[in-house]
Amino acid sequence: MGVPKKRKSHTRKTKRRSHLALKKTSVTTCPDCGEPTLPHRVCPSCNRYKGKRVLNIED
Ligand SMILES: [Zn+2]
Repeated sequence: MGVPKKRKSHTRKTKRRSHLALKKTSVTTCPDCGEPTLPHRVCPSCNRYKGKRVLNIED
């Protein structure tokens, strides 16, 4: 197994990790009920996707 010969400097470590930050999740509003939802997901409050009821969950 390869073993690193030299310890990587703080600058080198932080430069490598500059691309690792998580992006903020984008939020859209549901066109049917107006609740904030995640894009390309079924609306959790009205169980609709693109105007169609896709989940049959009884309230
Ligand atoms: Zn909705």
